[in-house]
Amino acid sequence: MGSECGVLVFAEQENGEIHNVVYELLGKGRELANRLNKMLCAVLLGFGLEEKSRELIYYGADRVYLFDHPSLKNFDVIRYKHNIVKLVNEVKPDIFLIGATRMGRSLAPRIAAALRTGLTADCVDLDLDDEGNLVQIRPAFSGNIMAQIRTRTRPQMATVRYRMMKPLSRNPNRTGEIVRMETEFLENSGIEILDRVSASGVNLSEADIIVAAGRGLKSPEDLKLIEEVANLLGGVVGASRPLVDAGWIGREHQVGFSGNTVKPKVYIAFGISGSPQHLFGMRDSDIIIAVNKDPSASIINFSDYYVIGDLYEIIPPLIRELKRARGVG
Ligand SMILES: Cc1cc2nc3c(=O)[nH]c(=O)nc-3n(C[C@H](O)[C@H](O)[C@H](O)COP(=O)(O)OP(=O)(O)OC[C@H]3O[C@@H](n4cnc5c(N)ncnc54)[C@H](O)[C@@H]3O)c2cc1C
Repeated sequence: MGSECGVLVFAEQENGEIHNVVYELLGKGRELANRLNKMLCAVLLGFGLEEKSRELIYYGADRVYLFDHPSLKNFDVIRYKHNIVKLVNEVKPDIFLIGATRMGRSLAPRIAAALRTGLTADCVDLDLDDEGNLVQIRPAFSGNIMAQIRTRTRPQMATVRYRMMKPLSRNPNRTGEIVRMETEFLENSGIEILDRVSASGVNLSEADIIVAAGRGLKSPEDLKLIEEVANLLGGVVGASRPLVDAGWIGREHQVGFSGNTVKPKVYIAFGISGSPQHLFGMRDSDIIIAVNKDPSASIINFSDYYVIGDLYEIIPPLIRELKRARGVG
């Protein structure tokens, strides 16, 4: 293996917790770096994160560049960008990967613009061509085709969707190098954190059970039925885009191409037709159960189990059964 950094991964963290997408990127990054015969590196910014740097090594990194400074404790897009751009100019990785998370989506374009390089957003897979160029694979034309994108400029930057790549298993015997970097402290980044508020407790991407609703619902109040089923099953509520667009439910609940990609153990779809854009976000669920009154709805073909019928007739007895089984109410 050469000593150059072939692949650099941005190690997103919040309150000292590394986002799981980072481990997925390290898994894919390991494969790409091996094929390039170069090192897999990660960059971690924050404060008091030496321990966490080691985790990145256990999951595949050969070298971690650590910016450890009080000014980086909370995410500040300007300070993070400033230090990362300096690092990339020094290290010159061939490939720079960032999770397509809220943080990654705000950081990546700023870094790409500062480096005057291209950026492919929301990749679902990555590969190398015969010349070792990064092939960035992402849906195009509303998810109907998979585009393969190459970038002429360097580094080749991509954001990658969460839950698309496989992490390596954690190996605490893996060794690597932690390089402590000098943080350039920007006194005034123009950003001041006044308060921290959590938008919503829902985290669809991590959920094991999702009970989702679509345009089969007649009114926003009927979402209570879906919520009740979700609560009884210990799951969370998902939705197709029309419900989100109509303002019936928050965007964080949206499943699909322009929403969340999910991989629960069980996905139950009430009154969802199964458009390509919706299927894109949930087709990798372990078990898909569809409830729809139209036997020709596309989702039926993608489901492991289905019930043809009216959700308003099916949900009330289902709730009664679940309550009986749970011994509640
Ligand atoms: C660029 C782009 C991005 C998009 N991104 C997304 C995305 O991220 N997520 C997403 O979901 N969509 C997305 N869409 C929209 C997508 O194309 C579809 O319009 C949408 O998924 C349809 O939602 P639906 O299945 O709830 O509604 P419909 O297609 O209207 O289906 C409603 C279903 O409910 C059934 N039904 C009706 N009444 C009942 C009842 N009483 N009981 C049981 N079944 C009943 C009907 O038979 C039907 O199958 C996107 C579109 C574009 C162009």
